[in-house]
Amino acid sequence: MKFLLLLCMFVTIAYGQREPGAIWIPSPHFGSRGSYSAKWLVVHGTAGGSSAEAIGEWFQNPASQAATHYVIGQNGAVVQCVDESESAWGNGRVEAGADDWWSASSPSPNQVTISIEHVKPSTDNSDLITAAQAAASFNLIKNIIARHPGIRMAYANTAGGITGHFSMSPQSRERCPGPYPWEQLFNDLNGSGQPTCMGTVTADTLNIRTAPNSGSIIVGSVPMHRVLNMRAKVAGESINGNPDWYQLHDGSGYVSGYYINVHISQPAWC
Ligand SMILES: [Zn+2]
Repeated sequence: MKFLLLLCMFVTIAYGQREPGAIWIPSPHFGSRGSYSAKWLVVHGTAGGSSAEAIGEWFQNPASQAATHYVIGQNGAVVQCVDESESAWGNGRVEAGADDWWSASSPSPNQVTISIEHVKPSTDNSDLITAAQAAASFNLIKNIIARHPGIRMAYANTAGGITGHFSMSPQSRERCPGPYPWEQLFNDLNGSGQPTCMGTVTADTLNIRTAPNSGSIIVGSVPMHRVLNMRAKVAGESINGNPDWYQLHDGSGYVSGYYINVHISQPAWC
């Protein structure tokens, strides 16, 4: 009895990493997680394509050399292409400006992530997520985290969590996923509403300061291309004619708006 129970648990772990009700369109474009497990969930936009099924079929084509675990259509259809226990070929290079925890080699981002594509017909990923797509996305993310408690139900940091493709490829995938209802997602998941406004660093190195002026104490710095999450915009010292300063969402301090290119997830104040 005990043996049978253990066997059942093993079978669940080995073959149970699929979303109930998802349309299974298996892709050969995956590898092993090796000794690693999923700690981050990565949100993508397809930058082209019409349906989740069509993207799933593209991931079966050897010409694509790519796949994500899931694709969500604008109609809310959920396609699964790779079992969650495997490492999908969903993420590209770790580029300069990437969040500090990504490594290009050991482990590669694909070994420690679960990736979800969102169908966006526009090649610049400018489409807004539809209501049906958002509902399916939030539900899928909740279910994935239930299966993978190692993924924090919060915006990504070194310990894990949820982020976009821009987090590891901020140069070539700055607009992946493009607009995504992050605030709604985190309200839905944990009521936190974080993060609300995102922008990319345009200076070689941008100082984080205790107050919105260049005379205040430097508490840290971020490299060019890094995507920052901001919780508020305040008026401060004018830098090259720009008086806007952003308070970082993690509460660490303020950065000059002159060196921030805001383009991802834009509340009115952002
Ligand atoms: Zn992407």
